[in-house]
Amino acid sequence: MEEGAIIQHDIKKAPKTGNWRYMKPEVDKEKCIGCATCVPFCPEAAIEMKRGQGQKKAKADIDYEYCKGCGVCAEVCPVKAIFMKK
Ligand code: SF4
Ligand code: SF4
Repeated sequence: MEEGAIIQHDIKKAPKTGNWRYMKPEVDKEKCIGCATCVPFCPEAAIEMKRGQGQKKAKADIDYEYCKGCGVCAEVCPVKAIFMKK
């Protein structure tokens, strides 16, 4: 069996993909149930769970400097809380 390693991701060192993004995902915070399903699916690790003021549960928050607009997050969201905009 091959040995593996866990590579720690540091988004600050990642190339910024946001400036060539064609589609932009937007999170409907009312619809988002805070399940975090979208987080591990994002290939750019651009989604964080953040709790806004007065929010009981953390909701998905997208870092647009690193999001490349692939739409995977919108596909995997079980409640369709992410929609893609041009
Ligand atoms: S559109 Fe793609 S890159 Fe952007 S947040 Fe969603 S999964 Fe990540
Ligand atoms: S998958 Fe959908 S409901 Fe779950 S945290 Fe992401 S946006 Fe919210």
